[in-house]
Amino acid sequence: MMYDYLIVGAGISGCVIAERVANILNKKVLIIDSRNHIGGNCYDYLDENGILVHKYGPHIFHTKSKLVFDYISKFTEWEVYFHRVLANVDGIDIPVPFNFDAIYKVFPPKLANEIESKLLEKYSYGQKIPILELRKSSDPLLKFLYEYIYEKIFLNYTIKQWHLSPDEIDESITGRIPVYLSRDDRYFQDKYQAMPKDGYTAIFNKMIAHPNIELKLNMRLSDIENEISYDKLIYTGKIDEFFDYKYGELPYRSLDFKLEVYEIEFYQKVAQNNFPNNFDFTRITEFKHFYKRKINNNTIVAKEYPTQHIIGQNEAYYPIINNENKILYDKYINEAKQLENVYFIGRLAEYMYYNMDETFLSALKLFDILKENNVTH
Ligand code: FAD
Ligand code: UDP
Repeated sequence: MMYDYLIVGAGISGCVIAERVANILNKKVLIIDSRNHIGGNCYDYLDENGILVHKYGPHIFHTKSKLVFDYISKFTEWEVYFHRVLANVDGIDIPVPFNFDAIYKVFPPKLANEIESKLLEKYSYGQKIPILELRKSSDPLLKFLYEYIYEKIFLNYTIKQWHLSPDEIDESITGRIPVYLSRDDRYFQDKYQAMPKDGYTAIFNKMIAHPNIELKLNMRLSDIENEISYDKLIYTGKIDEFFDYKYGELPYRSLDFKLEVYEIEFYQKVAQNNFPNNFDFTRITEFKHFYKRKINNNTIVAKEYPTQHIIGQNEAYYPIINNENKILYDKYINEAKQLENVYFIGRLAEYMYYNMDETFLSALKLFDILKENNVTH
């Protein structure tokens, strides 16, 4: 068989390229995935109680990009949803990111008031301060606050998640959850944040429902590459795997998800409860909270147990971004640049800690390049 494009991976990256090149460039596409479903890590399914379960952990859509939001809106309607996370600290549930409400929850009123005043003397209301930034403060009260948050929220969670302390991982990772000088208790402040009305898998089904697109599941690149011909290859898997790990493995963290069903209406107050200091799991997600629809009196939760990624045994979920691994990645990407008509795109191929919107954006940018090349050839 002859295709214009062979796309490896039917996650966001693969589906965006498939949809764009089929619809806009009228190209013939084969998209394959080694899993038995599309959607990559965004895959969701309805369980026996009618609850949309995110198989690979909670996926909350949020973006500042109108371009991305408008693009996805071609394939779905949305339900308003603001994600709220509570961390259990010394038996008390406090909002994460740590904010003014959290200060009043954990400290006696007089001390909380002093800390609030001190923060507003130094910073402005609404400012977001990464924890490793707050550490630089020389004021004793702010130092005390930093030590509290670092120890109670970040240290043990990060050790569980990354097997490293917050100082040993890239600052941008803990910087995702800055201290927020506000009473806004939402996890994200982006203009667009919502849940797709029928879930994520429904979006990908719509995206690739095109006569020019053929899908083959349970199929790896190595199963098919010698049997078909194609002009261009879009690769969204691990870049080190593509090159047979010739420079060594790019490290990742993985997760074990333990699902538990309960015959109660709700298990917890919000969709996500974090447990920085207790247990071996980091967080519990209750999927029922994502949508307002009425569901029967059962609920399902997922507990996340971080673990080392081992090839062939579990999935590569989180790239471990640091200088050493960036250098290793550069060796692969430099080799990739020598290849003609092969493009590496997505969280695994770019070795980036991309949120969904960033993955969409990166794929849409690649499409612009493919389109440009198509015109000039
Ligand atoms: P993937 O989704 O990983 O898709 C790659 C696909 O390629 C996979 O289906 C894989 O099976 C297939 N593949 C790989 N190698 C091969 C091969 N050799 N042959 C055939 N097939 C292959 N983002 C948010 O915005 N909000 C969130 O709340 C959020 N939560 C997340 C929670 C977790 C636990 C994780 C891991 C990620 C989360 N993300 C979230 C990020 C989001 O999942 C990613 O941005 C997105 O899934 C990346 O899409 P992708 O297509 O690049 O990669
Ligand atoms: N983090 C933490 N405690 C928390 C929440 C987050 O220490 O209660 C740190 C941890 O290192 C985590 C990082 O902040 O890996 C990013 O958190 P985020 O919720 O963005 O992670 P993701 O949803 O991508 O797993």
